[in-house]
Amino acid sequence: MALRRLDLTFPPLQATKPITYHLVKDFGLTPNILRAQIQPGQQGRMLVEVTGAKAAIDKGIRFLEHEGVLVGAAASDIVLDEEQCVTCGLCTSVCRPEALTLTDDTRELRFDKDQCVYCEACVIACPRRAITLEF
Ligand code: SF4
Ligand code: SF4
Repeated sequence: MALRRLDLTFPPLQATKPITYHLVKDFGLTPNILRAQIQPGQQGRMLVEVTGAKAAIDKGIRFLEHEGVLVGAAASDIVLDEEQCVTCGLCTSVCRPEALTLTDDTRELRFDKDQCVYCEACVIACPRRAITLEF
């Protein structure tokens, strides 16, 4: 079994197609949607973790590309600019897996890479642009 984290960009006319249904039914894959911004008639974006046989994942990716979906590798790490961070905690409040936490005593920002799903919520939330994704 293999796991790939994919960053999918949908052209406006494809945004509402049941893509994940096809990944399950046609390729036997298990998609786990980490983040999605999909609206009818607009370009959509989805961050998805796909589990399955490596060959099936490759076929699934080819299917997506054939459907006009832009398939990119998702981020594999986040980088914190400590000079910019003011430990306001906004990023921790949007981090659902609690990969980012503030220590009670020193209000130090901690990052647990094992918990992070690279959803980008913290990147968007940070008013100081102190967090960036690394690919
Ligand atoms: S939101 Fe930005 S400035 Fe605030 S704690 Fe998080 S990284 Fe630091
Ligand atoms: S990208 Fe940021 S908000 Fe999303 S899980 Fe990782 S640390 Fe949390």
